[in-house]
Amino acid sequence: MSDNDSIGKQMYRLVEELYPICRSITGNGVRRTLEIVSRSTPMTIHEVKTGTPVFDWIVPKEWNINDAYIIAPNGEKIVDFKKNNLHVLNYSSPINATLPLEKLKEHLYTLPDHPEWIPYRTSYYQERWGFCLSHNQFIGLKEGDYKVVIDSSLSDGHLTYGEHLIKGETEDEVLLSCHICHPSLCNDNLSGIALMAHLINYLSQQKLRYSYRFLFIPGTIGSITWLSQNENTAKKIKHGLVVVCVGDPGAFTYKRSRDGNAEIDRAVLNVLTKAELSHDVIDFYPYGYDERQYCSPGFNLHVGSLSRSTHGCFPEYHTSADNLSFITADAMEESLNTYIAVMDVLENNKTYINTSPKCEPQLGKRGLYDSTGGTHTNDKNFQMALLWVLNLSDGSHTLLDISERSEIQFSTIKQAAAALCGTDLLVEASPSG
Ligand SMILES: [Zn+2]
Repeated sequence: MSDNDSIGKQMYRLVEELYPICRSITGNGVRRTLEIVSRSTPMTIHEVKTGTPVFDWIVPKEWNINDAYIIAPNGEKIVDFKKNNLHVLNYSSPINATLPLEKLKEHLYTLPDHPEWIPYRTSYYQERWGFCLSHNQFIGLKEGDYKVVIDSSLSDGHLTYGEHLIKGETEDEVLLSCHICHPSLCNDNLSGIALMAHLINYLSQQKLRYSYRFLFIPGTIGSITWLSQNENTAKKIKHGLVVVCVGDPGAFTYKRSRDGNAEIDRAVLNVLTKAELSHDVIDFYPYGYDERQYCSPGFNLHVGSLSRSTHGCFPEYHTSADNLSFITADAMEESLNTYIAVMDVLENNKTYINTSPKCEPQLGKRGLYDSTGGTHTNDKNFQMALLWVLNLSDGSHTLLDISERSEIQFSTIKQAAAALCGTDLLVEASPSG
């Protein structure tokens, strides 16, 4: 492990540590997960009581599980939760019974198209029990009586979630949200948890304009609960991203916010395009992850979702094949760097005013123009960026507008603006202007 210190490796190791834990929308798996993440990343852990009304929903019972297995007629333990927690239908009610194969089959879930893999199935809002297994194992089951045990409990308790706020210069917030309710699945969404943890560590060391709110929540019910209990805070959210499926080496996928062309949408696309990262862009649709709640019409927050292979579009999705070999340290690090680049655009997307707008000011006498005719493409690019910033800084164009129109990387436009602000030629417009 000579590469011990790479951020990607650190992210991967966090995923490895969280992988064996059986999580669900409530219960000790979520608590244990947040506890582990908290060791290196600060957060507040909230507990919301079972039965609490949250908009049209109610915080459900807390689910915990000790063990689950099936014993075949020959006495052999053939399905064992302790070997893979996907074997149990997540949120299963408890059972201890002996059933003939025909009856047992009503409670078994398989993937005939991928006969080696175990599916991930849940039953949150309807009390059921069940097991998931490979189709190959399923077709080998012999007639006879099977003993089934699910040692789980569904009782009054709490819904647990983690939250962290990094305060910036302004109260305006950027929201980052990931779901923490999936059991042993890596891309969806231990990769998102690892990315958010490292993004917190990175942003905590920066001087920030925006405040950044991070939510580690169970999918759907978690965002509904948070929104229901934080309606006033939600008004401060100006931009946001749902962080999911960021660990596989596939191309990026950006799902736009409901408004479709909000600043966050433009910032993400600017970064993906200018960095020449292969990517797909999809319009908002009211399915997927927690963007569904953030973008519900009563909130309509500018929240998109930046992932790699996304929701339902990769065969390993919601199966035992979304495991530690499906994700890579490099892909996670590239995803993190892409998120950081997006935050950099948001942080620096300001409006400036050219204080010398009548004809071009003379850059050479201010040391900003290479009068010897620079041969470096980068220098020429930088000089074009200076001219674009001066030309469009009339108080009505932001740096992102200028980057889009000039097709010059945002980071170069940002540097050009900083250089001009160091002279008498450019000043930041007042926020109201
Ligand atoms: Zn999922």
